[in-house]
Parts: sequence; structure tokens; C-alpha cells
Amino acid sequence: MSRHVIVTGASRGIGAAVAEYFLAAGDTVVALSRSGSAPAGCAAALSVDVSSSESVNAAVKAAIAAHGPVDVLVANAGITRDGLAMRMGDDQWREVLATNLDGAFYSARAVLSSMVRARAGRIIFMGSVSPFYGVPGQANYAAAKAGLVGLARSLAREVASRAITVNVVAPGFIDTEMTADLGSASGDLTSLIPMGHIGSVADIAGVVGFLASNSAAYVTGQVLAVDGGLAMGL
Ligand code: NDP
Repeated sequence: MSRHVIVTGASRGIGAAVAEYFLAAGDTVVALSRSGSAPAGCAAALSVDVSSSESVNAAVKAAIAAHGPVDVLVANAGITRDGLAMRMGDDQWREVLATNLDGAFYSARAVLSSMVRARAGRIIFMGSVSPFYGVPGQANYAAAKAGLVGLARSLAREVASRAITVNVVAPGFIDTEMTADLGSASGDLTSLIPMGHIGSVADIAGVVGFLASNSAAYVTGQVLAVDGGLAMGL
């Protein structure tokens, strides 16, 4: 049966791969991003700023009106604005928190009442291993991604009785535009990964697909690292 799937940050990178994964499964995918672009085949590609609750609410309302209750939300939109904490500006801090943490909360809140009414649903937040590993220059990003774990676990307990699961996927280093400017540092980083190579967007999409599937119906409040072993044990 075709599911109604909303993916934020679906214009490129991990979000686009996640959208393509669900499209290949025959699902109805609504893609949200600032640019409003999306992989071919999406039922809708809406221009949304996830850091604005009005923007998110309007898009989710339109998606529900067109395609019915939301079965799966993948809150994936995210940015980095790296810099050492002692020189980090207020804007640099706020912008990352607003997109990566506020945006995930606004997205989840917007789909919840439809999921609660349906007594079914899957919410998957795109976290990171950054808060577990500790990455210099990412105080803003790590704080936002750590916040997703608390958000997911509180939410998971609030809605578990309605058969809604809430989980976090925590990628390690994945080959996307976000990591494209690592330059020579990428060799050093690769040497830290037990599997010896950077991950692909398909590595993440497959795990998101699993968490959205019936096979994962009894998995909630979890953080699933997909990192080639980088942050194991942390
Ligand atoms: P990209 O930079 O390739 O893509 C980011 C996506 O987020 C784009 O679709 C962008 O769309 C969207 N986006 C950014 N800000 C907003 C906003 N305010 N409102 C709506 N959409 C927005 O990143 P990745 O694919 O690499 O990352 C995806 C997620 O995975 C992020 O949450 C990231 O933190 C996380 N992650 C990535 C890792 C990696 O190694 N790549 C590692 C760990 C976590 P547009 O520009 O069109 O708005």
C-alpha cells in the first residue's frame, strides 16, 4: 500500500536519496526544501523554510489536504555553520539551532495530530554522530543534533501507545555537498572510520527505509548510527 511520506531537505544529498528510496517503493512523496526542487516523481515539491513554523505548518497542511494523513516524516533538513565556539557569532549559533532543531520539532509537531488520529506513523530525525564523537568547530551543530535525541525520546514516549515510532538516524561522514569542502581533511577523517571509507547517501536511505517499515514497528526512541563504525561505543 502506498504511504504518504514527507521528506524535508529533499532537494539534494541524503534527503533526495531518501525521497528516491520511498518513490522506488511506490510511495507518495512530498518533498520540502528552501529551493523547492526535488527528485523526479515526487507528488509535490514545496518551497519551505523549516526554521519557520508558519512555513512548515502551511506545507504540511497542503500535503495532508492533497494526499491524506502522513504515514512517514523524515525530518532531514540541516545546515552547518562551523567555527570555533569562542569566535562563534550569535547568528551562526541561532541559524544552525533554528534549522536543525527547531525545524525538526516544527515538522514533527505539524504531522503529529494526523498520525495520532490514524493511530500509526513513523517519525525519523536526521541526527549525526557529531554530538557523540565531539567535533571541534561544531558546537552549534552538535548541540542541535544532540537536542534531536531528547526530542525523539520524549516524543517517542508521548505517542508510543498510538503505534507511532520516533527514532534518530545518526550518519557519520557521508558524501554530499555538506561534506564536499572538507578537502584534504577528508583523508584524515577516512582513516578514523573502521570501514575505511566515507558513506554514501544510499547507506542512509536504506536505514531510514527500514525504520519506516513494518519490520521496525517495535523500534522506538532509538539512535541508529550509520557511520562505518566511526562512533561505535560512544
Ligand atoms: P546537503 O547540504 O546536501 O542538503 C541539505 C538539505 O537541507 C537540502 O535539501 C537543503 O535544501 C535543505 N535545507 C537546508 N536548510 C533548510 C531550511 N531552512 N528549510 C528547508 N530545507 C532546508 O546536506 P546532507 O544531505 O549532507 O545532509 C542532510 C542531513 O543529514 C542534515 O540534517 C545533516 O545535518 C545530516 N548529516 C549529514 C552528514 C554528512 O556527512 N553529509 C553527516 C551527519 C548528518 P535547499 O538548499 O534547497 O533548501
